Amino acid sequence: MESYTVHDYDVLVIGAGGAGLRAAIAAIEKGARVGVVTKSLLGKAHTVMAEGGMAAAMGNVRPEDNWKVHFRDTLKGGGMLNNWKMVENYTKEAPDRVRELEQWGAVFDRTPDGKINQRNFGGHSYPRLAHVGDRTGLELIRTLQDHAVKMGIHAHMETTIYRLLTDAGRVVGALGFNRQTGEFLVFRAKAVVLATGGLGRIYQITSNSWECTGDGFSLASMVGADLIDMEFIQFHPTGMVWPPSVMGILVTEGVRGEGGVLKNSEGKRFMFDNVPERYKGEFAETEEEAERWLQGDRSARRPPELLTRDVVARAIRKEVNEGRGSPHGGAYLDIASRRPADYIKKKLPSMYHQFMKLGNLDITKEPMEVGPTCHYVMGGVRVDPDTQATNVPGLYAAGEVAGGLHGANRLGGNSLSDLVVFGRRAGMAAAEYAAQQTGSLQVDEAQVRAYIAEALQPFNNPQGENPFALMKELRATMQKNAGIMREEGELKAQLEILANLKKRAWNTSVSGSRAYNPGWHTALDMRLMVEISEAVVLAALARKESRGGHARLDYPDPDPTFAKLNHIIRRNSDGTLSVVAEPLPEMPEEMRKVAEAKDLKELSEKVGA
Ligand SMILES: Cc1cc2nc3c(=O)[nH]c(=O)nc-3n(C[C@H](O)[C@H](O)[C@H](O)COP(=O)(O)OP(=O)(O)OC[C@H]3O[C@@H](n4cnc5c(N)ncnc54)[C@H](O)[C@@H]3O)c2cc1C
Repeated sequence: MESYTVHDYDVLVIGAGGAGLRAAIAAIEKGARVGVVTKSLLGKAHTVMAEGGMAAAMGNVRPEDNWKVHFRDTLKGGGMLNNWKMVENYTKEAPDRVRELEQWGAVFDRTPDGKINQRNFGGHSYPRLAHVGDRTGLELIRTLQDHAVKMGIHAHMETTIYRLLTDAGRVVGALGFNRQTGEFLVFRAKAVVLATGGLGRIYQITSNSWECTGDGFSLASMVGADLIDMEFIQFHPTGMVWPPSVMGILVTEGVRGEGGVLKNSEGKRFMFDNVPERYKGEFAETEEEAERWLQGDRSARRPPELLTRDVVARAIRKEVNEGRGSPHGGAYLDIASRRPADYIKKKLPSMYHQFMKLGNLDITKEPMEVGPTCHYVMGGVRVDPDTQATNVPGLYAAGEVAGGLHGANRLGGNSLSDLVVFGRRAGMAAAEYAAQQTGSLQVDEAQVRAYIAEALQPFNNPQGENPFALMKELRATMQKNAGIMREEGELKAQLEILANLKKRAWNTSVSGSRAYNPGWHTALDMRLMVEISEAVVLAALARKESRGGHARLDYPDPDPTFAKLNHIIRRNSDGTLSVVAEPLPEMPEEMRKVAEAKDLKELSEKVGA
């Protein structure tokens, strides 16, 4: 019989990104004994990749900024589908959470008068992003990690949670395995906080790190937790599609801002043919006018390459679909033929060095091959706006894995502050819940044994399929059929593909030992990835409109009926998933006035913001 080691905690936090570490600190402050589990090493979570900064209405650069303006901006960006109470909690608390990081040692960039500096970002009415150069995520993690270790977290690194454990409908821990040794671990916990991040890896092209396989969404759903608005996924238009070593990595909008142009395989600048009606007259109509704008001529209009992210992404997809794409399914982004090499190296140093080092691609000499890259998921595990509790007792969620705050689309910078506001709330609530649970914890031995047998099954299945091939198929088909632009036929086809992949994911074969076996890890990841992919596709099929991060070719406009509905993805007793449309929570009149203020003047006059 397989052996396993048992660890006992009051609160088990799954994930050591910004949300997980902040939750762990809050739970320890409440007196809980806390364990933190992470698939990678401490300090290596996806959060370290965040660059631009964390949004908080501190008013350091523009004193007019305050939580009400941030509240309105966030709801506007989210197409008003956000949970208004979460947005209120978030915008009110974010400034305190940033100041707290500073007290714990984070070295933010400064204004000339010594305050934390704040920068502009899309969708924010005022400069609002506290930042540390272009490595804010790294500083956030460094600070939280130092603090958490000092406070006494027990960290289980290179450990993957495979299943949550339940007893009488309540979460009582988790089963995992050490990735290095293959040893099984049972965590008995009075409360569990999921902080497992996003799901970008279900797509072929993604800016997300290898850890973002969407495990938390599936783990939660498999024990009966509701998910919300899984159709809303943010795609950035210019991720690298080639070479493989840099696939998905973001190419900053700055490349286009410095004169980089998008071309198809025929060498044509296709963005001039893709200016939507609502932007007509606002963008340059000739290459000559676009160049004048880039040279600072205020009478000229901006190049169409600088249209909004969704428009650019859609145009690239159209070129690819109509046979004019680059060899690897994208378009060419060319700065090499437009600007001298020295200029590119000076203005875009990180881009130049990154692609040179990682992809042996010299962007001063060759064009880049780019296409839409999956960047962020707005949907997630449905939580209580005050406590981050899910509908399953003992289970909490925070960070990118939790849904509700961002509605249909997230504003840049609103994730890092989400992590610390709601990580803290989740940790506090989980510790309070744990303190109320008296008596010793029981986990069901039979449940543990069954999950271990299930996890080891690929080693005893010599005729099974190759898990890497299955993963490749999943990611390619999700990219094609449920990516940036969706339509009913493709989504339905994807559901059939997923039904088939789901069966095959339980019939994989791996060889070798359990010690650091990537084939085995992939086989187990696949089981969770097909589950969450299905939730995304079902929700995308149900939303017959285009809004925020969800764009339908067959329903290209927003529909007022859907403007009032969230989609809840619920697991039925037979294990299948259903999508239930639910009216948005009622917003009180005084908050509605803030959210619906026509402009900043009205906001200031009518609501005193
Ligand atoms: C290139 C890039 C730049 C970005 N820039 C910004 C920015 O400037 N500002 C901003 O606000 N947002 C930004 N974002 C978004 C932001 O970085 C993420 O949304 C955020 O970091 C997610 O944090 P998290 O704590 O929820 O999860 P993560 O940081 O993803 O951490 C998840 C943790 O869970 C662990 N885990 C997952 N599954 C399991 C499992 N089964 N068992 C055990 N452990 C598990 C992982 O190992 C990891 O430790 C950016 C994203 C990208 C890709």
